[in-house]
Amino acid sequence: MNAPLKQHLIDPEICIRCYTCEMTCPINAIEHDDNNVVVNADLCNFCMDCIPVCPTGSIDEWRVVKTPYSLESQYGWEELPEQEDIGQNEAETGLEALDDAMAALLAEAHKGAGGKATAPASAAKPTINMYNLGKPAIAKVQGNYRLTKDESHDVRHIILDLGALPFPVLEGQSVGVIPPGEDTDGKPHLPRLYSVSSPRDGERPNFNNVSLMVKREENGLCSNYICDLEKDAEVKITGPFGATFLLPDDPDARLLMICTGTGSAPMRAFTMRRQRTLDGKSGGMVMFFGARTQDTLPYFGPLSKVPQDLLEQHLVYSREAEKEYVQDRMTAEQDRVAELLNDPKTHIYICGLRGMEEGVEKAFTNIAESMGEQWVSLRDAMREEGRYHVETY
Ligand code: NAP
Repeated sequence: MNAPLKQHLIDPEICIRCYTCEMTCPINAIEHDDNNVVVNADLCNFCMDCIPVCPTGSIDEWRVVKTPYSLESQYGWEELPEQEDIGQNEAETGLEALDDAMAALLAEAHKGAGGKATAPASAAKPTINMYNLGKPAIAKVQGNYRLTKDESHDVRHIILDLGALPFPVLEGQSVGVIPPGEDTDGKPHLPRLYSVSSPRDGERPNFNNVSLMVKREENGLCSNYICDLEKDAEVKITGPFGATFLLPDDPDARLLMICTGTGSAPMRAFTMRRQRTLDGKSGGMVMFFGARTQDTLPYFGPLSKVPQDLLEQHLVYSREAEKEYVQDRMTAEQDRVAELLNDPKTHIYICGLRGMEEGVEKAFTNIAESMGEQWVSLRDAMREEGRYHVETY
């Protein structure tokens, strides 16, 4: 009989198919088909390189098994299997020691804001992975508008029309865009992932369309393709993806949103959803939004028209006379943030640059201390309750 072993798996429900883990794995133990991203148990050596790069925590799944799940069975999954009863406790299998080592590595990898995510209790159930590499949806470009004044920082608002194709998205979900052509190995390019910036009932209410916020990156294959798209062009898209970074449907839930640059895409979707559904009531939303300058802050003009009682805005700039990051403003607004942290109805959303996590964590640590609380315990409790959500790249 096989001795039980620990197998590394990826949660197909939460994975957003960004393929970052696959690109990071130094021994090619991670692969994908049209449907799922999977780990080859024969190759994985638990080096953990893939853990910190995953934006959702879907990579952080482990099962003790007698026979490892094959690649074929993992490719067919829509959700992870439960831990099977293997009739032996972990101490007997010698896996406890491995667990301790892993826990230490995972704690290190996720010492920032990452870690396994949970969806808000009252969020609607998202549809995921409806269109994939082999069967993408074909969308038509309805509009492509510049969102920033600064010409050297070209951020675009792209509206994609799905026509008669069903494409149900919830705020906070992402879609993949497949750039045309092939890579140097002659394989079709992998989709690049973008958060949807429109609410579930469409960029325009009751139209079957979605909007994306895309920044042109120098030499960026997909971002240049998207930013140059002309009206009526056809685009191959995959998704929707993401089952945790979602808006609570509870109208009394309060949202503390912290974002940098294009990481504001899901915050726009949340704001529009609340604007359309709360019917003039206070939105309960507070946003800390960082950009280099006013002229590089996407939607600067339209944002100034959003009423403060719907969305309290703290816009900060890092390359103007006074350099300020989101975490600096959170610290300056310590009492406001503390009041939100104290409210069990508050949900936190962090989206944008990976580098912001550390500073934001530090700010939360100090603010929690001022309340006589330990940030790590508060954060972990919030995460378990589905009130703490992070997506950073
Ligand atoms: P950016 O303009 O390069 O940066 C936005 C702001 O963040 C700047 O003020 C920048 O300051 C600041 N920043 C840099 N390091 C920071 C740190 N350690 N702590 C706090 N603030 C920091 O942003 P971007 O080019 O739009 O990139 C945003 C990121 O969000 C991208 O990596 C993108 O992949 C990601 N994202 C996008 C989406 C989407 O759907 N569009 C979704 C999720 C995530 P300085 O540069 O002046 O230091």
